[in-house]
Amino acid sequence: TKQTLDNIKASDSDINAFINLDEDGAIKAAQAVDQAGIEPDNVLSGIPSAIKDNILTNGFKTTAASKMLENFKPIFDATVMKKLNAKQTITVGKTNMDEFAMGGSTENSAFKKTHNPWNLSKVPGGSSGGSAAAVAAGQIIFALGSDTGGSIRQPAAYNGIVGLKPTYGRVSRWGLIAFGSSLDQIGPLTRNVLDNAYVLNAIAGHDEHDLTSSDKEVPDYTKSIKDGVKGMKIALPKEYLAEGIDQDVKDAILKAAETYKQLGATVEEVSLPHTKYGVAAYYILASSEASSNLQRFDGIRYGYRSPEAKNLEEVYVKSRSEGFGDEVKRRIMLGTFSLSAGAFDAYFQKAAKVRTLMIEDFKKVFQDYDLILGPTAPTTAFGIGEDISDPVTMYLNDAMTIPVNLAGLPAMSLPAGFSDGMPIGMQLIGRPFDESTIYKAGYAFE
Ligand code: GLN
Repeated sequence: TKQTLDNIKASDSDINAFINLDEDGAIKAAQAVDQAGIEPDNVLSGIPSAIKDNILTNGFKTTAASKMLENFKPIFDATVMKKLNAKQTITVGKTNMDEFAMGGSTENSAFKKTHNPWNLSKVPGGSSGGSAAAVAAGQIIFALGSDTGGSIRQPAAYNGIVGLKPTYGRVSRWGLIAFGSSLDQIGPLTRNVLDNAYVLNAIAGHDEHDLTSSDKEVPDYTKSIKDGVKGMKIALPKEYLAEGIDQDVKDAILKAAETYKQLGATVEEVSLPHTKYGVAAYYILASSEASSNLQRFDGIRYGYRSPEAKNLEEVYVKSRSEGFGDEVKRRIMLGTFSLSAGAFDAYFQKAAKVRTLMIEDFKKVFQDYDLILGPTAPTTAFGIGEDISDPVTMYLNDAMTIPVNLAGLPAMSLPAGFSDGMPIGMQLIGRPFDESTIYKAGYAFE
């Protein structure tokens, strides 16, 4: 743990993966593990890790990269933290992210910009950009992120690492600062597929504090991971290789398809016809949920209160105007509009219908196929500052990750090659609660 902390202090001035390092807490936790003894059957015992800063850590600052929560210290642990602590992992700090997880480059953090360790002039992706960069740079063994529309998988892709968004309900959201409650899931970011399965083993499972968490039994995700893909049926949706996808990315995915064929799987083209409506539907639904979830930041109950406020109305208005960044305000306005009486049918209701159609698309494909293969993102990591002034370009980046959240499916991004020295990510999407098949196929490819 000491070495890990020294290494982070030496490397993080370039990368900026961390918002706050918990040196005392980490050393104390490590000493406790020393005292208790490493558990021989527990591979996570004593392993240093980092946690996205929208996951509550008892007594240690959790900011969601927002001025609104700059000095917020939670008084309880998120369920995933309780589970990790029980496994004796060592949390060394909290990682940078887009404010309230809204963004795809970590440039929306109120505090700092994280740099991609493969090329410091590039973004690490987002919103879990700090978690992904910390793993890719070798600062820690694993990190947790959250994924509402791609925020684990896209940064994993940009950093050449493995990131899994579990099935909706597989991992408790208790203690995750809510963005879009029907979409959010916490998941692991790691250097390889096996490590990822170990971490999911630790954090998955039912939680009475989260009524959307499933009571389905949690399998051992490492158990059949080495079984190979012989006989597996993999679908390649044509919409995921269409216009707007970089040629190098396309080539890498087609090459992966060939690899799977050589390994004994069948790969066939399919169609997910409603893919093109996903981004539009998502930004209405996610923003609507966000506008509701973020009402609690009112200057009274949590976090920032404007020192200028002279009456109740000003406490609300000034605290929120000063505490939230531009992207968060954009989402609150879009969401509030979509939920307003005059717009509800035309926008929210319509988006909800599109969501149902997309779920049906996936259901149809999964009648015949075990997995869906495609790119995680249309390009590799872009330059810092390149897209930030153009929200729509930024939103389109998520075209292939968003459908997975809308349908509540599990999906993993893993490295599939390079373009101009930057990692390309490929995505494997599975049936609900079938993370095991994703891991098996990921392990076979790696
Ligand atoms: N980039 C998407 C957004 O800005 C996804 C974010 C996420 O998954 N948290 O909403």
